[in-house]
Amino acid sequence: MKKNWKVRPEDKDYQAFLLETNKKLGAFLSFSFNEAMTGDGEFQGIPLAVKDNIAVKNQPLTCASKLLENLVSPYDATVVSRLKDKGAVVIGKTNLDEFGMGSSNQDSALAETFNPWDPLVVPGGSSGGSAAAVAAGMVPLAIGTDTGGSVRQPAMFTGVFGFKPTYGVVSRYGLTAYASSLEVPGFIARSVEWIKLALELTAGADPHDQTTTSDVLAEVRPIKKIGYLKVDDGLSPVMAAAYREHIEAWKDLGYVLMPVDIPALEYAVPAYYTIATAEASANLARFTGIRYGVRPDYAQNPQELVKKARTAGFGREVKRRILLGTYVLRSGFQDQYYHRAQKIRTIIRGDFNRVFEKVDILLMPVYPTQAFPRGESGLSHLQQKLADKFTVGANLTGIPAISIPAGVRDGLPLGFQLLAPALHDRDLIQMAQLWESKTSIPAPPNYPPRWED
Ligand code: GLN
Repeated sequence: MKKNWKVRPEDKDYQAFLLETNKKLGAFLSFSFNEAMTGDGEFQGIPLAVKDNIAVKNQPLTCASKLLENLVSPYDATVVSRLKDKGAVVIGKTNLDEFGMGSSNQDSALAETFNPWDPLVVPGGSSGGSAAAVAAGMVPLAIGTDTGGSVRQPAMFTGVFGFKPTYGVVSRYGLTAYASSLEVPGFIARSVEWIKLALELTAGADPHDQTTTSDVLAEVRPIKKIGYLKVDDGLSPVMAAAYREHIEAWKDLGYVLMPVDIPALEYAVPAYYTIATAEASANLARFTGIRYGVRPDYAQNPQELVKKARTAGFGREVKRRILLGTYVLRSGFQDQYYHRAQKIRTIIRGDFNRVFEKVDILLMPVYPTQAFPRGESGLSHLQQKLADKFTVGANLTGIPAISIPAGVRDGLPLGFQLLAPALHDRDLIQMAQLWESKTSIPAPPNYPPRWED
């Protein structure tokens, strides 16, 4: 099956539209309009946007960091090459919070990205550029990465679908590592069919990534029971009301809805940030300014060179996380933090397993609020971390999750997520397609769809 997207990357009007739209949204950090099509297949001539922490040959790979501002990738990530092999053309790289660390795109060191629904609110993050590009109709499909919610949350904030596959199904080769045990490439689209195609074409073991699994995706099961997470507090009033309505909507579609508890979710955020920062402190040690990236003009010795490069190159949030990660890993204290976080991770996995003994699919919020205001009146860094409560569970356990748009309130999109046991990604795609066929997925008023998706 081949999807139809009316414009081609070489179309001059389309390129003008992209440049014009990007002036308003800042979704892309770079465009590459002279990319030749190198493959043939389902994605023939389809323009693709790729988050700028994923390698695309001969295109920038900045990770939205000053340190890598001048880096151009010499190779393709596996997730990119597999889509290129089917004819996709990468038209540009999208903005993110530096190295994927954040939830608003306000922690990008290189550009500001605006939410197509309202320039006063954030697009979400860290794959905010990818989500904004899709929501504004710039591309049919964008690749992001999801370490703790970074595909699902910006998709929700911009009113589109965002899918995080089972860990190990889509190769991480070519993804600039932030927290390797948690993250996966994911897909963002207004139409689920694109996500389905992208998953089918990119899933599968990769010799370049030893964590990819040789297990194949399970066939679609008949879904009857949906468990919904009982949420007593912590949601904004708008989100709480919408959640109740959303649960009713699934009942109206004929499903059995059962309330479920995941008690250990209470500890998910501290466990996530302990593990994520520990892994980040190790992964980001490679950025020394010696082999690649920005290097200082003058240093007396290698140590000073590295220090100068990292001091000038990393943003505040990245430095904070490297410090935190180094702290939780320091010798003598691993039991107190890192090992304890790993134990919590195991308990959370157990909780999810128990839920999936009773229900086929799990439904829960993506985020406690709709897209929040930019700047001071929005959420602080600490508040943003606490708000990752609902998304990090899927990363700690490795299970698949998809965020689905669920209407608009006060001019901003609403959305919720469906989760399934590991390797049951196709169940989620099928449920999202059903949802898509029964509801309307509105576009931002200022960015009406220019072509059939
Ligand atoms: N908000 C989370 C964090 O800052 C998730 C980021 C991500 O998934 N890349 O770590």
